[in-house]
Amino acid sequence: MGIYDFYRRESRIAEQTEADSAAAETVVSSSLSHSELREEMAARKSAVVPAIAETEILEIVKSTPEYGVADPVAALKLIREDLGDCTRCKLYKGRTKIVFGVGDPRAELMFVGEGPGADEDAQGEPFVGRAGQLLNNMIKAMGLRREDVYIANIVKCRPPGNRQPERDECETCSPFLMRQIATVKPKAMVALGATAAKNLLAINAPMSELRGRWYDFKPAGSDPSWSGARLAVTYHPAFLLRDPRQKGEAWKDLQMVMKYLGIVPPPKTAQ
Ligand code: SF4
Repeated sequence: MGIYDFYRRESRIAEQTEADSAAAETVVSSSLSHSELREEMAARKSAVVPAIAETEILEIVKSTPEYGVADPVAALKLIREDLGDCTRCKLYKGRTKIVFGVGDPRAELMFVGEGPGADEDAQGEPFVGRAGQLLNNMIKAMGLRREDVYIANIVKCRPPGNRQPERDECETCSPFLMRQIATVKPKAMVALGATAAKNLLAINAPMSELRGRWYDFKPAGSDPSWSGARLAVTYHPAFLLRDPRQKGEAWKDLQMVMKYLGIVPPPKTAQ
């Protein structure tokens, strides 16, 4: 299970330049409890912050402590301080550590997962377990280092038993993620798995429909001088651990991102 697993199937993905932001409203519940088993599940109603007026959004943004702070390092610190020892949703009850996010505050590329697992909960850092190792390998295969990107999750506390975060939990926590995204201002984002994708995009669709295209993404009220990120969707590394046959498909997704960012992958070396 090395980084070069991601070089094996290199067929092209047709880029779609038009953002596909049509939100389906189909509601289909899933009985599966683990993210790695949910990748190809039927659509469920995604947890999104309800639409509110632009002026109201601007007032909310202006009231955040990081508003007007140009230095992203300082701004992220202010967001973390604002989060505090958070008890805003019920996930606080089972957590050991809040998993805020990690990486370059000026990263061009940002990965967003679903939520912390046991290893992340213990260490307070996203993607540090086996799935995290695979994500690191994916990042290396792209010719980048983990410290070159920014990594965060939809929810910052571990859901009990690694269950899927519930709608109210996502709605409560994701505004902090939006503030992190608006601070980092990445050029490209990768949603890792269906839950992250559906929460970020408010689209109810299976992974087969979510992947292989670009979406325009910009948190409401963010810096007008930032044109926003292009967002791609790929499989969650935990799913890839369960079904390594899909690594080639994930590599196609990452190649699409690399092409957009102008990243040339390192040459393959003998293993
Ligand atoms: S998941 Fe987010 S909103 Fe809920 S307690 Fe943790 S930090 Fe707070």
